[in-house]
Amino acid sequence: MIEFESVTKRYPDGTVAVDGVDLRAESGEITVLVGPSGCGKTTSLRMINRMVEPTGGRILVDGADNTATDAAKLRRGMGYVIQHAGLFPHRTVIDNIATVPYLLGWNRAKARARAMELLDRVGLDAQLAKRYPAQLSGGQQQRVGVARALAADPPVMLMDEPFSAVDPVVREGLQDEFLRLQNELDKTIVFVTHDIDEAIKLGDKVAVLRTGGTLAQFAAPKELLSRPVDEFVAGFVGKDRGYRALSFTPADGITYDPEPAVALGASAEHARATARDGWVLVVDDRQRPQGWVDVGRLTSEVTPELLHRGGTVGSVTGSLRSALDAALSSPTGRGVMADDDGRLVGAVSTATVLALLDPPTSDAAGGNGGGTTGNGRSNGGSGRGGHDTGSTTGAPR
Ligand code: ADP
Ligand code: MG
Repeated sequence: MIEFESVTKRYPDGTVAVDGVDLRAESGEITVLVGPSGCGKTTSLRMINRMVEPTGGRILVDGADNTATDAAKLRRGMGYVIQHAGLFPHRTVIDNIATVPYLLGWNRAKARARAMELLDRVGLDAQLAKRYPAQLSGGQQQRVGVARALAADPPVMLMDEPFSAVDPVVREGLQDEFLRLQNELDKTIVFVTHDIDEAIKLGDKVAVLRTGGTLAQFAAPKELLSRPVDEFVAGFVGKDRGYRALSFTPADGITYDPEPAVALGASAEHARATARDGWVLVVDDRQRPQGWVDVGRLTSEVTPELLHRGGTVGSVTGSLRSALDAALSSPTGRGVMADDDGRLVGAVSTATVLALLDPPTSDAAGGNGGGTTGNGRSNGGSGRGGHDTGSTTGAPR
């Protein structure tokens, strides 16, 4: 656990980069620091491993003031990942990853074995081991950067915009893999980004900083989206946060409509008799949804070529967003929902999902929150209504 107690950093030229910040990064969690450029994110991160010393307040690592630990020793327990990976250009990938083990005096064979293991862990082919960083794509370089930071298995990882330099598609892949990795590794991670979507996606807790280095809000993503404390945070998390907040609301409050289905190979008569509004759902022999068939196109039996693909199947143990995505992506408007084994549970309409969004209690909570933005924004009728209208009248996604 890492705690900031009224931490301030005033650089010698008088710039106050961080101003009286209190926050706590729990062990085994991802704590994200997010905010516009210049708001003190990097400075905050560097004070944790003492690359920068605070001018006020203190930072505790597992309860002990970090200035009590020798800086070099402190850093060995904290992997550090930066934008553009910061790899050594004249060292091969494997030697880059083994940097810290070498420094720690591991023998070469052991350090390299560990490096190869990590290469695999971060999803890179063993063949890349002998390449130089310039021979890798940006996304591959970032993975090597993560592998290098993990090499000595430090309990803490400090990550400064590690994925910001790669394009959005690659970035999403890196984020997904990073979350998968963290699931296995359970590190205490402090992650810096300027990208609010990345913060919301990765953070167990998110600290929103504002220019001047003050903490605007420190909360779980869901709370940040549903109850921004002020205009700054509200503006920063974005107007469509009502829609994004769906990702954090479980779908378990939904009552599903039964959706009759047929198997591949079913006769055209049977499919027509089962269909509703001209479409029938097709499942495999284990009741797993395969797609919809337009019975108007049926001549003989239900074949794979007739399946309308591209719709998403929602998970009943997933979020409301997965249910809404399923409904919005279904040619019938009936979102197909499945259990954890992929078996059909039933269907849900867009209207059903949206009806769950604005229960009276959420209005009341917003009102009680009493913030100038709490009420008007957190019930967010306009944002969500607007999004829904746009999507349902537009092409299925
Ligand atoms: P961020 O990472 O959020 O972009 P930084 O922590 O890098 O922000 O910087 C916060 C503020 O401190 C900025 O105004 C920046 O110009 C200033 N700053 C950063 N490093 C120094 C330094 N070594 N000396 C003086 N000012 C600095
Ligand atoms: Mg920075």
